[in-house]
Amino acid sequence: MTKEIRTRIAPSPTGMMHLGTARTAIYCWAYARHFIGGKFLLRIEDTDQERSTQEAVDVILDGMKWLELDYDEGPIFQMDRLDRYKEVVDEMLEKGLAYKCYATKEELDALREEQMANKQKPRYDGRWRPENAVGREIPDGVTPVIRFRNPDTGTVTWKDQVYGEISFENTELDDLVIMRGDGIPTYNFAVVVDDLDMKVSHVVRGADHINNTPRQINLYHALGAEVPEFAHLPLINGPDNKKLSKRNGDASVMDYELKGYLPEAVVNYLARLGWGHGNDEKFSKAQLAEWFDLENCSKSPACLDPKKLNHLNHLYMAEADNDRLARLVRPRIEARGGVVEGKADLAAVMEITKQRPETLEALADVCMIFYRPLQRDEALVREVLANEQSLKAVQLFLERAREVAEWTPENIYLVLKGIMDEMGIKMPVVAVPIRVLVFGEKISPVFDKTLALFGKETVLANIESGLAML
Ligand code: GLU
Repeated sequence: MTKEIRTRIAPSPTGMMHLGTARTAIYCWAYARHFIGGKFLLRIEDTDQERSTQEAVDVILDGMKWLELDYDEGPIFQMDRLDRYKEVVDEMLEKGLAYKCYATKEELDALREEQMANKQKPRYDGRWRPENAVGREIPDGVTPVIRFRNPDTGTVTWKDQVYGEISFENTELDDLVIMRGDGIPTYNFAVVVDDLDMKVSHVVRGADHINNTPRQINLYHALGAEVPEFAHLPLINGPDNKKLSKRNGDASVMDYELKGYLPEAVVNYLARLGWGHGNDEKFSKAQLAEWFDLENCSKSPACLDPKKLNHLNHLYMAEADNDRLARLVRPRIEARGGVVEGKADLAAVMEITKQRPETLEALADVCMIFYRPLQRDEALVREVLANEQSLKAVQLFLERAREVAEWTPENIYLVLKGIMDEMGIKMPVVAVPIRVLVFGEKISPVFDKTLALFGKETVLANIESGLAML
């Protein structure tokens, strides 16, 4: 029987959900979904009690939901599993795989200083290993930490699914603290116990964890457990190829919602940053799940490319369902002071406006002509009607539009076309002034459809009141 594929995303709730975390989550999700019966887990690594917040947990849950990264198990909170970590620690103490260390902070600081002064790499010197501590008195009032007895010699090697073979010498590693005095495990220990208990088959995470992996592998060996596969993902850089910072685009995933991106565009964009399937730039989540593999992840850092994201978002918006877009755009129109109720049907407006804008914000801007109070600049009205032909054409349009029984784009176009043919004028001569009179702008989405959506009454009333401004 082949092993069940189980992946997990294990964020620490200490701030926003970064793009890198989201991309890792997308890859873990896609890898699990690629296999029949594959499972994807969400684990919240909240053992850093000083920095973990409920707000940050919510941000993670919201981000997963927004990106529609459905998980099969979780969220599992590490702080709910303290008893389990203690159980494993006790077992390790009993077997001599771990030991209590009573070194004080001052002592460790002094050790570090001494090592630095001797140009040595700072590392714990094993002073509380049982054989070294024989006869040493246990100091009063010091709560011990628990350290893992790392092997002294040998090499730790794994075949990383992205980077290939990676090795570390055990002499580079020291005896890692696995549980603090307060009974809270450290990251490297909790992650191993969890990945083991949760039967994680593939640990996919950021390359910033590569240095932790040999320590974790040693723990797996000590526990007599099978080591999972590891895949480390290169970091995401800013568009300038420098490390991400606030200035060059590091943002929370949910900021992308605020800025008006569709989740499917963000998933596609992030998935494509650092992984590819031939030349395919636009793919659905189903295709991602079908095509995704770890071998095709890039070894070099990806760079953010806002233009690419905008382009993808534009493509996804153009094909999005109108009712859905209307739901997403409505609050943005209202935030701009627009009133949707009783005005042009928003879903129908979406149909004629969604093709070009790159974000929902830009789409909301385009729609405002339908939902804001009429704003006309008198000087502009005069300007567009200064031409005699324009004035005449608008007057004719008003007359004939009154007679139109069914206010459809087709009938509106027929009126317009009749005037253009009769007067031998081009479309802008008549359409530009009408736009300015009806909604105050020289340009708009498709003329006849736009006027149809304004409704006959409004169009006639605005043309009349506009002509009266002369
Ligand atoms: N809590 C760790 C982080 O947020 C998880 C690392 C891992 O996936 O092992 O970086």
